[in-house]
Amino acid sequence: MKKITIAIDGPASSGKSTVAKIIAKNLGYTYLDTGAMYRSATYLALQNNLTEKDVPAILEQLAQHPISFAKASDGSQLVYVGDRDITAPIRDNQVTNNVSWVAAIPEVREELVAQQRRIAETGAIIMDGRDIGTVVLPQAELKIFLIASVEERAERRFKENQEKGIQTDFETLKKEIADRDYKDSHRKVSPLKAADDAITFDTTGVDIQGVVDFIQEKAQKIIDKG
Ligand code: C5P
Repeated sequence: MKKITIAIDGPASSGKSTVAKIIAKNLGYTYLDTGAMYRSATYLALQNNLTEKDVPAILEQLAQHPISFAKASDGSQLVYVGDRDITAPIRDNQVTNNVSWVAAIPEVREELVAQQRRIAETGAIIMDGRDIGTVVLPQAELKIFLIASVEERAERRFKENQEKGIQTDFETLKKEIADRDYKDSHRKVSPLKAADDAITFDTTGVDIQGVVDFIQEKAQKIIDKG
């Protein structure tokens, strides 16, 4: 069976990783969460009190503590830098609210994009992020750009936090999501935008299964064509 490459991009909390994980499982593909890689770089920068002025030191940290992924016993993904499990800390507010400046550093992107392309070399991969269809894998057979209203994205995140027992203020959450989108869309290098040949899908009011079905149907057509 033909193995394809699927790129899913879109703004913060648009459901990319949730649907990408399900599709990867259904198709038996590798899933790569590139946001987790920028979050890992941010974790290393913050741990070492580094700022955007310390680019060589951030790169040095990345070289000394390579990012890797592993599977937990429940099947969920674990993220490591070196031998340190940072799956939980990279979702902290501190990392979330700092990741955009780290991700705007051209040298950091160059390094992480090279790693992402190496991982994608074997094909049969679904990768999600901000620049996958435009920069990382412009040759991807299927490119999806997921959008949803800020209101809905904040609601989804709010519910998720509630389920995890994390207290959040809805308005603050909405502002943080909008701020991050603004920074990610307006940076000089690889800003968040849909590739010219991407299919944009507005998931406002659509449930997870609906998004999965939409993407998987498109993927299946390409796979069947061979
Ligand atoms: O997808 P997630 O919200 O975890 O991504 C965290 C951050 O990493 C984004 O807000 C963005 O700044 C950065 N990112 C990026 N390019 C990617 C994936 C994520 O710049 N391909």
